[in-house]
Amino acid sequence: MDRAIISNLAYLVAAALFIVGLKGLTHPRSAVRGNLLGAVGMLLAVVVTLLQQEILGFEVILAGILIGSLVGAVLALRIQMTAMPQLVGLFNGFGGAASVLVAGAVLVQAIAAVTAAATVSLQFTVATAASGLIGAVTFFGSLVAFGKLQGLVTERPIRYPGEQIVKLLVLLTALVFGVLVVRDPADTNLYWYLVAAGSLLGILLVIAIGGADMPIVIALLNSYSGLAAAATGFVLSNNILIIAGSLVGASGIILTQIMCRAMNRSLANVLFGGVGAVIEDARQDDIYAGKVTATSAEEVAMILKTARRVVFVPGYGMAVARAQTPVRLLTELMEKDGIEVEFGIHPVAGRMPGHMNVLLAEENISYDKLCEMDQINPSFPQTDVTIVLGANDVVNPIARQTSGNPIAGMPILDVDKSRTVVVIKRSLAAGFAGIPNPLFAADNTLMLFGDGKKAMDELVAAYKEA
Ligand code: NDP
Repeated sequence: MDRAIISNLAYLVAAALFIVGLKGLTHPRSAVRGNLLGAVGMLLAVVVTLLQQEILGFEVILAGILIGSLVGAVLALRIQMTAMPQLVGLFNGFGGAASVLVAGAVLVQAIAAVTAAATVSLQFTVATAASGLIGAVTFFGSLVAFGKLQGLVTERPIRYPGEQIVKLLVLLTALVFGVLVVRDPADTNLYWYLVAAGSLLGILLVIAIGGADMPIVIALLNSYSGLAAAATGFVLSNNILIIAGSLVGASGIILTQIMCRAMNRSLANVLFGGVGAVIEDARQDDIYAGKVTATSAEEVAMILKTARRVVFVPGYGMAVARAQTPVRLLTELMEKDGIEVEFGIHPVAGRMPGHMNVLLAEENISYDKLCEMDQINPSFPQTDVTIVLGANDVVNPIARQTSGNPIAGMPILDVDKSRTVVVIKRSLAAGFAGIPNPLFAADNTLMLFGDGKKAMDELVAAYKEA
């Protein structure tokens, strides 16, 4: 059989593995298998590509794999779990940069090979321009997103008069260079001007967005990196790159939509609204003064002993404190006493989608106990105790207002409807959205102040004693 047919058949198998793998990732139970299937598909795609092309020498490729693997492994091992969004952001950016460089290199090579009989096709030049533009926006946008989340660049949205016009002008400049690349591909300098304009656009687009919205931006840039890769697939006439890039592009945009919906924001509002870092002039004293009731681990343990149903609501603070182990221990102790325990998981709790699910899965807490918002909300009035562990915005009743604050309209977990709410956090400090939380001052709320892990350890010890 023809070599090209064999490799295309292998690519088809790889594409099927990607799709089945993605399907597996939609449920925690099948996620590990899905991940494995996707990885096998990618291995197959890489091996087939290496065998199929006329590669002159493997030395440079091997050196690239070695250096890339080393850098990737060191980064992944050293990064804190809570800094995962910016690491993912950086990886997206590298994908965009790879598309820019590969498309540029292939353009230079193709132009060198142009003869009177063999010219470059329109598809090729359009795809090259698209790779350069989208790849550059992705790379530089991701670098800014990384900088914002890592505290290297100001988290505040950088706004200035005529901002949208400046961005529009840069976009138009980039598009003009794109058209010029298509019209006159022989002048390869035009490609790099296009890349420069795209890079500037990436920076301008992301510096205008507040640090608070960076995780959404990262999901969007993830989608862009897929589109850039798909365009590079057309440059190289490589089917599997087109398919894989399209899958990344589509899943990235779906994730972006899910995150926007969970925060009750539109994508346009995230990209152009600059709301992310608007911190309300919160009159905390009005809300908290004299109304906050502090408690102790011993008192909470006594209350739990008399409960029949307890719900944990974890948030970002559980991740920072790494408090999931004592959560599991207390769950086991309570279940031994016949108490029904469930977990309320808000779609944007923590700092990345699925953040809480990952941490609780690390502890082998059964998926059946992890309830989504719509599923658990009706049960709060029948819940004796809800333990809010390091969560804040996702349980803030202020979100029920229709306007006037950064989380207005965001669906929340109705923990305030339970008989007793125990909130574990270090202080009355605000969460991600930077606003006070009336839940802390509610009559049925007890505040257990302290680091999440330390407070949970004390609660486990107190529960054993009670
Ligand atoms: P929040 O950011 O609202 O609140 C976290 C709370 O954890 C803080 O108030 C803090 O209070 C507490 N905390 C911090 N460190 C510790 C610690 N060591 N021990 C105990 N508590 C601690 O978190 P939520 O999970 O409730 O909400 C997530 C927010 O992030 C939402 O606003 C969401 O929109 C946003 N977001 C989420 C994304 C996602 O994909 N999940 C993406 C983008 C944004 P204190 O300092 O007093 O301890």
